[in-house]
Amino acid sequence: MKEKFDPSDAIQDFLVFGEFGDVNPSITDSSTYTFMSPDKMEELFDHEIEGCFLYSRHWNPTNKYLSDALARMEDSEAAQAKASGMAAISASMIQLCGSGDEVISSRTIYGGTYALFKNLLPRLGIRVHFTDLADLDHVRALINGKTRAIYCESISNPLLDVADLPALASLCKEHDLKLVVDNTFSPMILSPIRLGADVVVHSLTKFINGTSDCVAGAVCSSADFIHQLTDINAGASMLFGAVLDSTRAASILKNLHSLHLRMRQHSHNANYLAERFRDLGLKVHYPGLPEHPGHGLLTTMMNPGYGYGGMLALDVGSLEKANDLMTRMQQEKVGYLAVSLGYFKTLFSSPGHSTSSEIPVEERERMGLSDGLVRFSIGLDNDIEHSFRRIKRCLEDSRVI
Ligand SMILES: *Cc1c(COP(=O)(O)O)cnc(C)c1O
Repeated sequence: MKEKFDPSDAIQDFLVFGEFGDVNPSITDSSTYTFMSPDKMEELFDHEIEGCFLYSRHWNPTNKYLSDALARMEDSEAAQAKASGMAAISASMIQLCGSGDEVISSRTIYGGTYALFKNLLPRLGIRVHFTDLADLDHVRALINGKTRAIYCESISNPLLDVADLPALASLCKEHDLKLVVDNTFSPMILSPIRLGADVVVHSLTKFINGTSDCVAGAVCSSADFIHQLTDINAGASMLFGAVLDSTRAASILKNLHSLHLRMRQHSHNANYLAERFRDLGLKVHYPGLPEHPGHGLLTTMMNPGYGYGGMLALDVGSLEKANDLMTRMQQEKVGYLAVSLGYFKTLFSSPGHSTSSEIPVEERERMGLSDGLVRFSIGLDNDIEHSFRRIKRCLEDSRVI
């Protein structure tokens, strides 16, 4: 049994003293770095030297601070901040797999990741099998000598299915595969590395940054894997070059320090609304509700104190009703009709016609993704009861209830 771990305690201990004792360290304003001697430069091309920088696409001090803080949060040996969540996912998968290799992926994944796996990786000779990862016998049957990795989201878009990370991790160990987990929906709530994952990817664009003002991502893993990614001559991060801008890295790091408070409030508000929607007799998907299929599993895996997350999905029966409801909710200032998530305001969209539209209709049906689904990312509203009354009025006006 591993000792108790709390991601926000880990970040609490992350103190940086800037160049002039600044509480917020100076932001790197350089693409390149000087060397006192040519030999030192030559040495850095051979191997990384602690505290020594070469070129900002490789590493820069600001991205390093953010990366180190993220590694603490995920309890991984190392991490690397990236220009986007998709950059983190694509670099990781290409680092792990080459032509002829195979990946087994959950069917219920973010639309962009699905498109990468379905349309782009095959062009590089990487084959991805999509399946229901809850069916472990079926997953086992798909494993062969060419399989390199299993890919899933800890809590998945948009139905909030929960992945059995310890079970998938032990299957991976048994067959010498890497378990790659997208933890974008559940930062702090879940610590996949501690549950056996090898690589954790994040879209920092969402909850971690929390202000919907930039796109960013991260990979958290072993020091060895991060070294592979950043290898000057062969690393997918280094050579595909999706480096995060240092000004953005600095602002994300500042927001990371309030993530624990925000996650608690997102979860509190989402749980309140989920219960009220259920009491109205609506079909609501929220892992905090005991009747959600992933509730028990999530309860056994989660770090206590952060709740069940800020995402919920409501099935209002038809696309027409969903569209009408969303239009009314925006007019009534419940939040914004927008894709993305993790913002301080509530965001809502219809996943079948936006973020999951890359997924073919038959696949969507198999996933249980109906046309009338409205996905909510619940904001940090101080008076959630008031927000509920507004939503209820919109539900009545669009004849959902
Ligand atoms: C948004 C998102 C991504 C992609 O991240 P970007 O920062 O937009 O590139 C990947 N996975 C999940 C679960 C997401 O929600």
